[in-house]
Formats: sequence, C-alpha cells, structure tokens
Amino acid sequence: MRKAVFPGSFDPITSGHVDIVKRAVPLFDEIIVAVGINSSKKYLFPLEQRIAWLEKVFADQPNVRVDSYEGLTAHYCREINAGYMLRGLRNASDFDYEKTISQLNSIVGDGLETLFLISRPAYSHISSTIVREIIKGKGDASPFLPPEIEI
Ligand code: ADP
Repeated sequence: MRKAVFPGSFDPITSGHVDIVKRAVPLFDEIIVAVGINSSKKYLFPLEQRIAWLEKVFADQPNVRVDSYEGLTAHYCREINAGYMLRGLRNASDFDYEKTISQLNSIVGDGLETLFLISRPAYSHISSTIVREIIKGKGDASPFLPPEIEI
C-alpha cells in the first residue's frame, strides 16, 4: 500500500496545495493531508477551521483523508505506516529548505522518502503567508483559494 503524507500548516489551504494533492492522487493508494500542530507557532485560523476546510475541499476524493499530528512529521509518518512524504516546490528557496528537511527526514524517518512535485506556473506565486496578509488587510483572497472556501 503506497501511502503518502502531505504535511503543512494549511493556514489556510490554497489552490496551490489543492493542485499538488490532486496531481499526486494517481501516484498513491492513499494521501493523508496532515495538519502539523506546533504549539510555539501562532496561526491565523484555529485548527478546527483549517481541518473543516480541508475536509470540504477533498470530500470528493475517496483516497484523500485529513488528519492532524503533533511532534515530528517523520515520526507521524512511521506511526501511520506511510512510506512517503509529499511536498510542493515553488522556487529555489523552497528547494533549499526542502532539500535539507528531506535529507534529515530520511534519517529520522528511517528511509522515509519525500516526493516533490514542482508547482504549476499558475500557482507558483501563491503562499498561505501572502493569503493571510491579504485577509488581514481586508483584501479579496478568493483568487488564491479553492472555490469551496469562503473567507
Ligand atoms: P508549511 O507550514 O510547512 O510551510 P504550508 O501549509 O505552507 O506548509 O505548505 C505545505 C506544502 O505545500 C509545502 O510542501 C509547500 O511547499 C507546498 N505549497 C504551498 N503552496 C504551494 C503552491 N502555491 N504550489 C505548490 N506547492 C505549494
């Protein structure tokens, strides 16, 4: 069983996240979109809200499920028996960061493999950080959000 974890904060989920998951669906038997809980991080949206949005967005995808976890992502993957982690790459700074994390996770996660999908051009400018700034500034973030989400 090919099982992948797509970890992130999803604060909030964007069209860029959705694109990565949908493109990965044919590659895995199951994808777990997992919200990592970091107690020292300040989030704009509460965990319950972020999970509710993810469940709504992926409701029509039978092989995608939503979960949350605390602690190391690599440990969570091992706990649920997932051999793969899925990540999106938008640019060179994503690459630099992700390369190190992936190499560490391969050790900490005992052979855990990270699969990277390069962002499609239409989504490579989208980040949750930018979306949060737009929302805080009372702007319209809908061009960057999946249609199921209304903020
Ligand atoms: P984190 O809290 O780890 O920064 P995010 O919720 O921001 O997580 O993102 C989770 C994953 O989605 C990361 O692999 C990130 O690179 C990827 N991602 C975020 N935005 C996009 C996008 N617009 N296109 C492709 N991948 C993206």
